[in-house]
Amino acid sequence: MLELTGVTVAFDRTVAVESVDLTVADGAVLAVLGPSGCGKSTLLRAVAGLESLTSGSIAWDGADLGGTPTHRRGFALMFQDGQLFDHLTVARNVGYAQRLRGLPRSEVRAEVDDLLTLVGLAGFGDRLPRTLSGGERQRVALARSLAAKPRLLLLDEPLSALDAELRVRLAADLRQILTASGTTALMVTHDQDEAFAVADRVALMRSGRLVQEGAVAEVWAHPVDEEAREFLGARRRFTGEEAARILAAAGLPPESGVSIVVRPSMDGGLGTKP
Ligand code: ADP
Repeated sequence: MLELTGVTVAFDRTVAVESVDLTVADGAVLAVLGPSGCGKSTLLRAVAGLESLTSGSIAWDGADLGGTPTHRRGFALMFQDGQLFDHLTVARNVGYAQRLRGLPRSEVRAEVDDLLTLVGLAGFGDRLPRTLSGGERQRVALARSLAAKPRLLLLDEPLSALDAELRVRLAADLRQILTASGTTALMVTHDQDEAFAVADRVALMRSGRLVQEGAVAEVWAHPVDEEAREFLGARRRFTGEEAARILAAAGLPPESGVSIVVRPSMDGGLGTKP
Protein backbone atom coordinates (compact mmCIF):
# COMPACT_ATOMS: atom_id res chain seq x y z
CA MET A 1 0.00 0.00 0.00
CA LEU A 2 0.94 3.63 -0.45
CA GLU A 3 1.74 5.58 2.68
CA LEU A 4 2.40 9.32 2.93
CA THR A 5 3.73 10.63 6.23
CA GLY A 6 4.05 14.33 6.96
CA VAL A 7 4.54 15.14 3.28
CA THR A 8 5.45 18.79 2.69
CA VAL A 9 6.39 20.34 -0.65
CA ALA A 10 7.47 23.97 -0.64
CA PHE A 11 8.44 26.14 -3.57
CA ASP A 12 10.27 29.46 -3.19
CA ARG A 13 7.45 31.33 -1.55
CA THR A 14 4.60 28.83 -1.50
CA VAL A 15 4.03 25.81 0.68
CA ALA A 16 1.97 23.85 -1.85
CA VAL A 17 1.52 20.72 0.27
CA GLU A 18 1.75 20.78 4.05
CA SER A 19 2.11 17.84 6.44
CA VAL A 20 -0.07 15.44 4.52
CA ASP A 21 -0.64 11.98 6.02
CA LEU A 22 -2.47 9.60 3.74
CA THR A 23 -2.69 5.92 2.90
CA VAL A 24 -4.12 4.12 -0.11
CA ALA A 25 -4.77 0.45 0.62
CA ASP A 26 -4.22 -2.26 -1.99
CA GLY A 27 -7.07 -2.31 -4.50
CA ALA A 28 -8.59 0.93 -3.17
CA VAL A 29 -9.36 4.04 -5.20
CA LEU A 30 -8.77 7.29 -3.33
CA ALA A 31 -9.69 10.72 -4.67
CA VAL A 32 -7.99 13.87 -3.39
CA LEU A 33 -10.59 16.55 -3.92
CA GLY A 34 -10.06 20.28 -3.65
CA PRO A 35 -10.33 23.61 -5.44
CA SER A 36 -7.82 24.85 -7.97
CA GLY A 37 -4.53 25.83 -6.36
CA CYS A 38 -5.00 23.73 -3.19
CA GLY A 39 -1.91 21.64 -3.98
CA LYS A 40 -3.39 18.40 -5.32
CA SER A 41 -1.32 18.22 -8.53
CA THR A 42 1.83 18.88 -6.52
CA LEU A 43 0.85 16.04 -4.18
CA LEU A 44 0.30 13.69 -7.14
CA ARG A 45 3.57 14.73 -8.73
CA ALA A 46 5.36 14.10 -5.43
CA VAL A 47 3.94 10.57 -5.29
CA ALA A 48 5.06 10.04 -8.89
CA GLY A 49 8.56 11.20 -7.96
CA LEU A 50 8.36 14.29 -10.15
CA GLU A 51 8.56 16.72 -7.22
CA SER A 52 11.00 16.45 -4.33
CA LEU A 53 9.76 16.56 -0.77
CA THR A 54 10.73 19.37 1.57
CA SER A 55 9.99 17.02 4.45
CA GLY A 56 8.11 13.82 5.19
CA SER A 57 8.17 10.51 3.39
CA ILE A 58 6.36 8.45 0.79
CA ALA A 59 6.53 4.66 1.08
CA TRP A 60 5.20 1.64 -0.77
CA ASP A 61 4.63 -1.48 1.33
CA GLY A 62 6.82 0.04 4.00
CA ALA A 63 9.77 0.78 1.69
CA ASP A 64 10.70 4.46 1.45
CA LEU A 65 10.59 5.75 -2.13
CA GLY A 66 12.82 8.76 -1.47
CA GLY A 67 15.70 7.40 -3.55
CA THR A 68 13.53 5.73 -6.20
CA PRO A 69 13.24 7.66 -9.48
CA THR A 70 9.88 7.98 -11.25
CA HIS A 71 10.44 5.17 -13.76
CA ARG A 72 11.41 2.70 -11.03
CA ARG A 73 8.35 3.28 -8.85
CA GLY A 74 6.06 1.00 -10.85
CA PHE A 75 3.39 3.69 -10.98
CA ALA A 76 1.50 4.84 -14.07
CA LEU A 77 0.30 8.38 -14.59
CA MET A 78 -2.75 9.33 -16.61
CA PHE A 79 -3.53 12.93 -17.49
CA GLN A 80 -6.60 14.92 -18.49
CA ASP A 81 -5.74 14.86 -22.18
CA GLY A 82 -4.59 11.24 -22.36
CA GLN A 83 -1.45 12.12 -24.32
CA LEU A 84 -1.78 9.41 -26.99
CA PHE A 85 0.68 8.96 -29.82
CA ASP A 86 -1.37 10.30 -32.70
CA HIS A 87 0.58 8.53 -35.44
CA LEU A 88 0.11 5.08 -33.86
CA THR A 89 -3.03 2.94 -33.99
CA VAL A 90 -5.03 2.31 -30.85
CA ALA A 91 -3.51 -1.17 -30.52
CA ARG A 92 0.03 0.15 -30.86
CA ASN A 93 -0.66 2.90 -28.32
CA VAL A 94 -1.97 0.36 -25.82
CA GLY A 95 0.80 -2.17 -26.49
CA TYR A 96 3.60 0.39 -26.42
CA ALA A 97 5.08 -0.60 -23.06
CA GLN A 98 4.90 -4.34 -23.72
CA ARG A 99 6.61 -3.94 -27.08
CA LEU A 100 9.35 -1.92 -25.42
CA ARG A 101 9.79 -4.77 -22.95
CA GLY A 102 10.30 -7.07 -25.96
CA LEU A 103 7.31 -9.34 -25.38
CA PRO A 104 6.43 -11.61 -28.32
CA ARG A 105 3.99 -10.11 -30.78
CA SER A 106 1.23 -12.67 -30.20
CA GLU A 107 1.40 -12.11 -26.45
CA VAL A 108 1.21 -8.32 -26.88
CA ARG A 109 -1.77 -8.70 -29.21
CA ALA A 110 -3.65 -10.92 -26.75
CA GLU A 111 -3.01 -8.53 -23.87
CA VAL A 112 -4.03 -5.52 -25.95
CA ASP A 113 -7.27 -7.26 -26.97
CA ASP A 114 -8.06 -8.04 -23.33
CA LEU A 115 -7.39 -4.44 -22.30
CA LEU A 116 -9.49 -2.99 -25.12
CA THR A 117 -12.34 -5.27 -24.10
CA LEU A 118 -11.92 -4.17 -20.48
CA VAL A 119 -12.32 -0.49 -21.43
CA GLY A 120 -15.21 -1.19 -23.82
CA LEU A 121 -13.27 -0.69 -27.05
CA ALA A 122 -13.08 -4.21 -28.46
CA GLY A 123 -12.49 -4.00 -32.23
CA PHE A 124 -10.99 -0.47 -32.09
CA GLY A 125 -7.38 -1.68 -32.39
CA ASP A 126 -6.75 -0.50 -35.95
CA ARG A 127 -8.22 2.98 -35.54
CA LEU A 128 -6.08 6.09 -35.27
CA PRO A 129 -6.60 8.33 -32.22
CA ARG A 130 -7.81 11.29 -34.30
CA THR A 131 -10.81 9.25 -35.48
CA LEU A 132 -11.98 8.75 -31.86
CA SER A 133 -14.23 10.81 -29.61
CA GLY A 134 -12.79 12.43 -26.47
CA GLY A 135 -14.24 9.69 -24.29
CA GLU A 136 -12.83 6.95 -26.46
CA ARG A 137 -9.41 8.57 -26.39
CA GLN A 138 -9.47 8.60 -22.60
CA ARG A 139 -10.40 4.91 -22.58
CA VAL A 140 -7.40 4.19 -24.79
CA ALA A 141 -5.20 6.22 -22.44
CA LEU A 142 -6.56 4.22 -19.52
CA ALA A 143 -5.92 0.91 -21.30
CA ARG A 144 -2.38 2.03 -22.04
CA SER A 145 -1.79 2.99 -18.39
CA LEU A 146 -3.10 -0.38 -17.22
CA ALA A 147 -0.97 -2.25 -19.79
CA ALA A 148 2.12 -1.39 -17.79
CA LYS A 149 0.54 -3.32 -14.87
CA PRO A 150 1.24 -0.48 -12.47
CA ARG A 151 1.12 -1.23 -8.76
CA LEU A 152 -0.45 2.22 -8.43
CA LEU A 153 -2.34 4.25 -11.03
CA LEU A 154 -2.14 8.04 -10.64
CA LEU A 155 -4.98 9.94 -12.29
CA ASP A 156 -4.82 13.72 -12.76
CA GLU A 157 -8.36 15.01 -13.42
CA PRO A 158 -8.92 12.12 -15.84
CA LEU A 159 -12.38 13.22 -17.00
CA SER A 160 -12.18 17.01 -16.78
CA ALA A 161 -11.61 17.57 -20.49
CA LEU A 162 -14.82 15.76 -21.43
CA ASP A 163 -18.27 17.27 -21.76
CA ALA A 164 -20.71 16.81 -18.89
CA GLU A 165 -22.77 13.94 -20.27
CA LEU A 166 -19.75 11.91 -21.28
CA ARG A 167 -18.09 12.59 -17.94
CA VAL A 168 -21.00 11.02 -16.12
CA ARG A 169 -20.90 7.86 -18.22
CA LEU A 170 -17.16 7.51 -18.21
CA ALA A 171 -16.96 8.09 -14.44
CA ALA A 172 -19.16 5.05 -13.83
CA ASP A 173 -17.16 3.00 -16.35
CA LEU A 174 -13.87 4.12 -14.88
CA ARG A 175 -14.95 2.93 -11.44
CA GLN A 176 -16.07 -0.40 -12.86
CA ILE A 177 -12.82 -0.86 -14.82
CA LEU A 178 -10.62 -0.03 -11.82
CA THR A 179 -12.61 -2.39 -9.62
CA ALA A 180 -12.67 -5.20 -12.19
CA SER A 181 -8.92 -4.96 -12.70
CA GLY A 182 -8.22 -4.64 -8.95
CA THR A 183 -6.21 -1.49 -9.61
CA THR A 184 -4.97 0.60 -6.70
CA ALA A 185 -5.46 4.23 -7.71
CA LEU A 186 -4.90 7.75 -6.46
CA MET A 187 -6.85 10.40 -8.33
CA VAL A 188 -6.80 14.17 -7.92
CA THR A 189 -9.68 16.32 -9.04
CA HIS A 190 -11.52 19.58 -8.38
CA ASP A 191 -14.77 17.95 -9.47
CA GLN A 192 -16.75 16.48 -6.60
CA ASP A 193 -19.00 14.44 -8.88
CA GLU A 194 -15.95 12.84 -10.48
CA ALA A 195 -14.47 12.06 -7.06
CA PHE A 196 -17.65 10.57 -5.65
CA ALA A 197 -18.46 8.54 -8.75
CA VAL A 198 -15.04 6.98 -9.16
CA ALA A 199 -13.49 6.60 -5.69
CA ASP A 200 -14.05 4.44 -2.61
CA ARG A 201 -12.54 7.05 -0.34
CA VAL A 202 -12.24 10.81 -0.59
CA ALA A 203 -9.69 13.17 0.96
CA LEU A 204 -10.64 16.84 1.00
CA MET A 205 -7.74 19.21 0.48
CA ARG A 206 -7.64 22.93 1.24
CA SER A 207 -4.65 25.29 1.12
CA GLY A 208 -2.13 22.47 1.02
CA ARG A 209 -3.63 20.50 3.90
CA LEU A 210 -5.97 17.55 4.13
CA VAL A 211 -9.02 18.56 6.13
CA GLN A 212 -11.01 15.31 5.99
CA GLU A 213 -10.51 11.76 4.75
CA GLY A 214 -12.95 8.89 4.76
CA ALA A 215 -15.23 6.54 2.85
CA VAL A 216 -17.23 8.31 0.15
CA ALA A 217 -20.58 7.90 1.94
CA GLU A 218 -19.10 9.01 5.26
CA VAL A 219 -17.55 12.21 3.88
CA TRP A 220 -20.74 12.92 1.98
CA ALA A 221 -22.93 12.48 5.01
CA HIS A 222 -20.68 14.26 7.50
CA PRO A 223 -18.60 17.04 5.95
CA VAL A 224 -16.11 18.22 8.54
CA ASP A 225 -17.25 21.86 8.49
CA GLU A 226 -19.41 24.38 6.66
CA GLU A 227 -16.76 25.10 4.02
CA ALA A 228 -16.50 21.39 3.25
CA ARG A 229 -20.27 21.10 3.06
CA GLU A 230 -20.42 24.00 0.64
CA PHE A 231 -17.59 22.62 -1.44
CA LEU A 232 -19.38 19.28 -1.66
CA GLY A 233 -22.16 21.12 -3.39
CA ALA A 234 -24.95 20.97 -0.83
CA ARG A 235 -27.44 23.33 -2.41
CA ARG A 236 -30.21 23.17 0.17
CA ARG A 237 -30.72 21.86 3.66
CA PHE A 238 -34.12 20.95 5.09
CA THR A 239 -34.77 20.46 8.80
CA GLY A 240 -37.74 20.13 11.17
CA GLU A 241 -41.18 20.16 9.59
CA GLU A 242 -39.83 20.42 6.03
CA ALA A 243 -37.55 17.43 6.53
CA ALA A 244 -40.45 15.46 8.02
CA ARG A 245 -42.60 16.21 4.98
CA ILE A 246 -39.84 15.09 2.59
CA LEU A 247 -39.38 11.82 4.51
CA ALA A 248 -43.14 11.21 4.36
CA ALA A 249 -43.29 12.00 0.65
CA ALA A 250 -40.43 9.56 0.02
CA GLY A 251 -42.31 6.88 1.97
CA LEU A 252 -39.61 6.76 4.66
CA PRO A 253 -40.38 6.36 8.38
CA PRO A 254 -40.43 9.59 10.40
CA GLU A 255 -37.25 10.37 12.27
CA SER A 256 -36.75 13.22 14.70
CA GLY A 257 -33.82 15.59 14.43
CA VAL A 258 -33.03 14.55 10.88
CA SER A 259 -31.78 17.06 8.34
CA ILE A 260 -31.89 16.49 4.60
CA VAL A 261 -29.34 17.93 2.22
CA VAL A 262 -30.18 18.20 -1.47
CA ARG A 263 -27.57 18.32 -4.20
CA PRO A 264 -27.47 17.59 -7.93
CA SER A 265 -26.51 13.97 -8.56
CA MET A 266 -24.37 12.38 -11.26
CA ASP A 267 -27.43 11.01 -13.09
CA GLY A 268 -28.94 14.44 -13.51
CA GLY A 269 -31.78 13.78 -11.05
CA LEU A 270 -32.03 15.14 -7.54
CA GLY A 271 -29.88 13.17 -5.15
CA THR A 272 -30.73 13.27 -1.48
CA LYS A 273 -28.78 11.88 1.42
CA PRO A 274 -30.02 12.20 4.96
P1 ADP B 1 -3.91 22.31 -7.82
O1 ADP B 1 -3.42 21.09 -8.53
O2 ADP B 1 -4.75 21.98 -6.63
O3 ADP B 1 -4.57 23.31 -8.71
P2 ADP B 1 -1.08 22.94 -7.56
O4 ADP B 1 -0.49 21.76 -6.86
O5 ADP B 1 -0.92 23.02 -9.02
O6 ADP B 1 -2.63 23.04 -7.17
O7 ADP B 1 -0.49 24.28 -6.93
C1 ADP B 1 -0.50 24.53 -5.53
C2 ADP B 1 0.24 25.82 -5.25
O8 ADP B 1 1.63 25.66 -5.51
C3 ADP B 1 -0.23 26.98 -6.09
O9 ADP B 1 -0.18 28.15 -5.30
C4 ADP B 1 0.80 27.05 -7.19
O10 ADP B 1 0.93 28.35 -7.70
C5 ADP B 1 2.07 26.60 -6.48
N1 ADP B 1 2.98 25.91 -7.39
C6 ADP B 1 2.76 24.77 -8.07
N2 ADP B 1 3.83 24.40 -8.80
C7 ADP B 1 4.78 25.34 -8.57
C8 ADP B 1 6.13 25.53 -9.02
N3 ADP B 1 6.74 24.65 -9.84
N4 ADP B 1 6.78 26.62 -8.57
C9 ADP B 1 6.21 27.49 -7.72
N5 ADP B 1 4.95 27.38 -7.25
C10 ADP B 1 4.24 26.32 -7.67
